[in-house]
Amino acid sequence: MGVNVGVLALQGNVSEHIAAFECALDRMRWGDTSSVFSVKKAGELMGCDALAIPGGESTTISRLIEKNHLYEPIRQFPGGMFATCAGMVLIATHVDDPRVHPLCLIDMTVERNAFGRQRESFEADLVIDGIDGGPFHAVFIRAPVGTEVGNGVNVLARIDRGIVAVEFGKHMALAFHPELGDDTRLHERFLKKIGT
Ligand code: GLN
Repeated sequence: MGVNVGVLALQGNVSEHIAAFECALDRMRWGDTSSVFSVKKAGELMGCDALAIPGGESTTISRLIEKNHLYEPIRQFPGGMFATCAGMVLIATHVDDPRVHPLCLIDMTVERNAFGRQRESFEADLVIDGIDGGPFHAVFIRAPVGTEVGNGVNVLARIDRGIVAVEFGKHMALAFHPELGDDTRLHERFLKKIGT
């Protein structure tokens, strides 16, 4: 089995995602038949089975998506998307900040910077539906939360403030940063849905 993973490389945690996907693919023994690379232009999406939208600043990434004529190509992308933190803001349908032009690929309402100044960054052990082997140690950095999801969106984890992990078809969106740290269970779960 193998999979070609593109990481949207406009701004944010690009190299961390590339390293985490490479590590996950090696652990799954798909490393030799797969590739992970950065994507900056629409033409590069053609070679991808999956696309990661990393954490960063969703307002900036949104502006750069428009500037690089990537909005429609990403919306039409037929593969799975792995959207983390700012990525979760971008992939939603409704966002509480007019500077973000959401991609509307997962029917979900998202609040940016939902934890305010007091808890800009924190870590939490999450029980995530479908992830075996104990809680997932999640790093939240100026994180969003989901406040509502539409039909067919599978909520995988919540904390007191709201929804922090969802799955919709081949897509996965997470409010935290699974690419920081050594736990690749979420990357592996995503890749198993994509691999052929
Ligand atoms: N607060 C950022 C935003 O809404 C997300 C932060 C992150 O990706 N670490 O864009």
